[in-house]
Amino acid sequence: MTDPVAYLETIQLDLTNLTHLFALPESVWSEGRFTYTMREENGEFICVFRGDGREAEMRQSVPDHPDARLRELHRKRVCRRLCRQTCYALLRDVTGMHPPWGSMTGIRPTRLFYEALENGLDAEDAEKHLVEHFDILPGKARLLRETVEVQQQLPPPADSWADVYIGIPFCTTRCTYCSFSSGEIGKGERVEPYLEALFEEMRSGTQILRDAGKQLRAVYVGGGTPTSLNEDQFQRLLDEMLACFPGASEYTVEAGRPDTLTPFKLRAIRERNIRRISINPQTMNDQTLKVIGRAHTAEDVRRAYAMAREAGIGHINMDVIAGLPGEHAEDFARTMQAALELRPESLTVHTLAIKRTSRLQIEKWPLPDGREAAEMVEMGRRTAQEMGMKPYYLYRQKYMAGNQENVGYALPGHACQYNVDIMEENTHILAFGAGGISKRVFPEEGHIERQPNVSNIEIYIERHAQMAEKKRALFLGENAAEE
Ligand code: SF4
Repeated sequence: MTDPVAYLETIQLDLTNLTHLFALPESVWSEGRFTYTMREENGEFICVFRGDGREAEMRQSVPDHPDARLRELHRKRVCRRLCRQTCYALLRDVTGMHPPWGSMTGIRPTRLFYEALENGLDAEDAEKHLVEHFDILPGKARLLRETVEVQQQLPPPADSWADVYIGIPFCTTRCTYCSFSSGEIGKGERVEPYLEALFEEMRSGTQILRDAGKQLRAVYVGGGTPTSLNEDQFQRLLDEMLACFPGASEYTVEAGRPDTLTPFKLRAIRERNIRRISINPQTMNDQTLKVIGRAHTAEDVRRAYAMAREAGIGHINMDVIAGLPGEHAEDFARTMQAALELRPESLTVHTLAIKRTSRLQIEKWPLPDGREAAEMVEMGRRTAQEMGMKPYYLYRQKYMAGNQENVGYALPGHACQYNVDIMEENTHILAFGAGGISKRVFPEEGHIERQPNVSNIEIYIERHAQMAEKKRALFLGENAAEE
């Protein structure tokens, strides 16, 4: 049997994230201010953390399974979770702080809710269990419960289904918080060769789906900003998508920047029966739009919504971000007021996360105050509720303002299947284009194999055939091309 200490070889990143959660320096580990031990004794894992004259000890029964491989996986999972929770208990004791999501780091919150249900608890008891066991705030546990209840009404995942993601890595300008590999479209010289490579890769995907015996579920065209293509290119993209991947139950096209929309592009979407698009103001304050590097105004957003309605688009999603630089609660309230006026069918409330590769990080913008970020996130929840929406997917990232979350809300019948699938990680995904990450899921093992495409646009154009082969190998187990 593996020594439990071996399961913790790569746990340091999780522990460092926990120290960030409690606003402590990473050096608490390297300087030996905090230390820990893990051992297995009499059928239990026993974890002890020590630091600043305090100690936290937690125990957990060692899981068993008749299959040796699955037993090993379960042992590792339980051991690592116990380690994180014990560390959390010590840091909570030392600092007296109470993060909104308690000890839930390095794990999808909905997964813990589903686990509680699988262990025989009803929704009410699962909600209480998360508060008691993971120390999360009651409001967050309620949010999780509502989210899971909406997800349970959607078609369940199955091994026979696969989603498709198509990436267009171009934007008109680069947002200062962006950490994606998208490039500015400039004069568009790279678009034609990119589309040529992408279409070839997509055509190979049709065959992979067929050979792997997968049925198409949802198709998502994202990026980047797909509508930053010119009208002819955009129309060809939609036609190629429908030719390669017909018959999905849902198609979404990101139309993130309002200044990239034209009546022609909106009609092209509508005529092809694509029902869901996303027009994302992020904020309705012109000053903030300038600070975050978007070359449009709040008025452009209003015009784009009017144009989309005129074209007969039935489902518009709106993305907003709480905690943008320089914004306070009253600024976010203006964005929420605009949401109430524009009446999207779904609203995604993100909390600003400053990632390492973003310009905001490079320029050292500080994260907004945690209390104010929480107030904005709550305002987003109330606005969605006022519009009759319910939460349907939720995820957390590192470096989020106030350690909050991102939540997708939707009117009944408007939850985006693809968003749920990508966050719950329970559906195969074939991703095409630079930076796309294909995933094959093995639900029984709780295991996912990923195949990332290169994110550099030039290299992708050059090597797209190799990406296609690797995807084929992922889903059909054939030998991938050599590097
Ligand atoms: S629209 Fe999205 S992908 Fe494009 S620059 Fe902004 S954050 Fe990045």
